[in-house]
Amino acid sequence: MRALIFLLILSLLTVYGCGSAVTQKTAEPETVPRPNGPAETDDGDDKAGVDHSNADGRVLMINVYVTKYKKIVPMPFEDYVKGVVAAEMPAAFESEALKAQAVAARTYALARLKEYAGSGCDLHSGADICTDPAHCQAYAEKQDMAAIWGSNADYYWNKISAAVEDTKGMVAMYDDLLIDPVFHAISGGRTENSEDVWKNKIPYLRSVDSPYEEEASKFKSSRTLSNSEFVSILRKKVPGLKINQNSLKAGVKILDHTAGGRVKNIRIGNKTVSGRDFQAYMGLNSNNFTLKFDKKTVTISVKGYGHGVGMSQYGANGQARHGSSYIDILKHYYSGIEVTNMWWVLEN
Ligand SMILES: [Zn+2]
Repeated sequence: MRALIFLLILSLLTVYGCGSAVTQKTAEPETVPRPNGPAETDDGDDKAGVDHSNADGRVLMINVYVTKYKKIVPMPFEDYVKGVVAAEMPAAFESEALKAQAVAARTYALARLKEYAGSGCDLHSGADICTDPAHCQAYAEKQDMAAIWGSNADYYWNKISAAVEDTKGMVAMYDDLLIDPVFHAISGGRTENSEDVWKNKIPYLRSVDSPYEEEASKFKSSRTLSNSEFVSILRKKVPGLKINQNSLKAGVKILDHTAGGRVKNIRIGNKTVSGRDFQAYMGLNSNNFTLKFDKKTVTISVKGYGHGVGMSQYGANGQARHGSSYIDILKHYYSGIEVTNMWWVLEN
């Protein structure tokens, strides 16, 4: 078992270099009308008597460094997972999508659990994990979501709790190792191969179709700049750049695309820039873009939101709406994985 988690951590380090997590991975919360579900009368608090225990009756705990309290808070592992799902995915999403997110959150957390030879959070000594989404993963208490959820707070919290309890203990594995369950908001129609975004080729992070994302309000976005703005941004970012702002159409050319259909490299004047760098320079939602040159302006049309690797949250929601189970969704976005109970992993 210890070897198992240790191997996972090694693979994480090779993906991210210094072990820092992906920052842009949370779906933008959107206002979605409350579904016509049955009226909820429960007060929404975690029900007394929920079983957090393993086969021996012991409750698995996780030590979470909670940024807003500036301290480590020990909590039942499955309660922690609820807070991650609340923070990382819009609660209006379909239950099967919330369940897929719960498995991703649980898998990520289990790989950090020091009691089982996980890595812990290297920013906060003594903590298994922290609530900084730029380092470990986001986490929210029910009251933290009050401003977004409003009068639906009880309904949404109960819905998230049910998604976590219905998948209790389930984690995603590849080749008997916990996976690194990276995700993003919207792929733009097709996800990315890991090596097109980070350094390493990860066997379960392959480019796959991601249908049903079009309903997301950020599926498409665009930015129009004057020719001089366009050139001035690039001159600040690309040292030695030579380009004539009066003939941009001739001077700027997309050279190639990734398997996910995103821009891999773009020639700008005398320089070649990666699609991801261009995305960062221009403040775009993704590197899935096209360019249109008019006489005095450049319009950049963008599809998708986020890095595009692993599970697309809006795609997961669309697949759930079309009848896929959380296991179908996870197996679609993480190629060749198994979804299995973590107690089988921990005790064998
Ligand atoms: Zn951390």
